[in-house]
Amino acid sequence: MSIFLTVSCSRFSESDFYGGMTLSDEDISELESLMEATTAEKYPAVTDEEGRYVFFFTAGGSVYHRSKNCPRLSSSSEILSGTEEEAIAAGKKRGCSVCCRQ
Ligand SMILES: [Zn+2]
Repeated sequence: MSIFLTVSCSRFSESDFYGGMTLSDEDISELESLMEATTAEKYPAVTDEEGRYVFFFTAGGSVYHRSKNCPRLSSSSEILSGTEEEAIAAGKKRGCSVCCRQ
């Protein structure tokens, strides 16, 4: 974790960073790409052919999901899909806390 902190600090104080560390530019960009692996990348949003977001949900659930890969959907045999309006109309009150977290 201390390496990550040092990398983010380097944006504000580059001379201190290069004075004390031996990471190459490749190391730094690799670390930065790891830091940017967010929920949005793990569970990318799906859009239909008209560019509307598509959400996934189950008949008995109370939330809708942004990704079919969501672990909370993995135990469901039947996965429905639709726009957010359709999900809400089907009784889903909010986005899933796993795949819809920003
Ligand atoms: Zn989910």
